[in-house]
Amino acid sequence: MICKFCDIQKTSELINFGSFPVCHKFSKGDKKIKTFKLGLSYCDDCNLFQISKPFPLNELKPIHNWINYNEPEEHLDNLVNTILKLKYVNKKSTISGISYKEISTIRRFSKKGYNKNWILNPFKDLRIKNKKHNLETIQKRISSIKNIKKLKKTDVLIVRHILEHCYDIKRFINNLKKMVKKNGYIVFEVPDCEQSLLRRDYVMMWEEHIFYFTKKSFLNLLDKAGFKIEYFERYKYSYESILIAIVSIKNTSEKLSIDLSKPKVFFNNKNLDKDRLVIKKKIKKYKEKNYNICMFGTGHSALTFINILKLEKQIDMIIDDDNNKINMNLPGSSLKIKNSKILQNMNKILIFLGVNFESEKKIVKKINKLNLKVKYFSVYKNSKYNFLKYA
Ligand SMILES: [Zn+2]
Repeated sequence: MICKFCDIQKTSELINFGSFPVCHKFSKGDKKIKTFKLGLSYCDDCNLFQISKPFPLNELKPIHNWINYNEPEEHLDNLVNTILKLKYVNKKSTISGISYKEISTIRRFSKKGYNKNWILNPFKDLRIKNKKHNLETIQKRISSIKNIKKLKKTDVLIVRHILEHCYDIKRFINNLKKMVKKNGYIVFEVPDCEQSLLRRDYVMMWEEHIFYFTKKSFLNLLDKAGFKIEYFERYKYSYESILIAIVSIKNTSEKLSIDLSKPKVFFNNKNLDKDRLVIKKKIKKYKEKNYNICMFGTGHSALTFINILKLEKQIDMIIDDDNNKINMNLPGSSLKIKNSKILQNMNKILIFLGVNFESEKKIVKKINKLNLKVKYFSVYKNSKYNFLKYA
């Protein structure tokens, strides 16, 4: 495969995880659904980790309208203050967002009296017709729109958690550039995958993410794409940190000097086989002691964990308290999703926590009240319940 950013260098595949369904395709009944190969590749030239072969874009379109993705927001107050301190930002500046993901940031600006702001309207501005759409369609429209100059221009364009979804990242970035005024800024935010690559955290993978950035590859990409880095920050979150860059359009040919030696990565097929075996053995031990094996959570982290480590047949039940999902089948499987009330009738349970740090705390607190014999394992390597740490 050719690198999806530089378009020149051949990438090398580090690991092939197998074939998987799309994580959001919950269905009534165990319908057969299409599966696609998931792999992780690396471009030596760009230092950039990327999905080996993106899933067909059409397959990523939501089939339900109740799937939401929440990004952590604790850092947003600081980010807003940082933006307000930029040289060319003042009370008259227009602050804008690329998608619904920026609503909460724009609201913070309004509260501070910065009222000239807007968010791209997917229907009017991007002419998306289908109400059931998400970032897969938004990124595509922004990349492919030809008359983007007709759209309003802005002083600060906020672009959180979409860059890593781009199928044509160059055209996406080129069109973003056309949306900012002279002396304007673009604020990018992406997940930081460095720790996950280092710790072999399988839940890093998600078929909707084309790119898996580290600090170096993120800054290098922005530099190569013609941006000057005005501000950079790595904001640490418990399970997955984020990378923030505020950029302006470069008007010199200056280049950042970045050490592009390959970062450490422990994803490989040999380690994967080993991990699959370790987990299976561990689960078997608990089954022998009559534990019920349960996955709590059905977001993409939970599903990626089940799929990559091939745990479908090991898991007895799958829990989620989202009413939309109750009694639906896990994509491509015969497991039905149940409400957590079902746990009240059990004696011994091994619970895989397939949820983020905040929800994990709440769930553990709630389940501990039930007075059962419980063993917790998280799907996240950074969790104190990390599975492999105790394996
Ligand atoms: Zn490349």
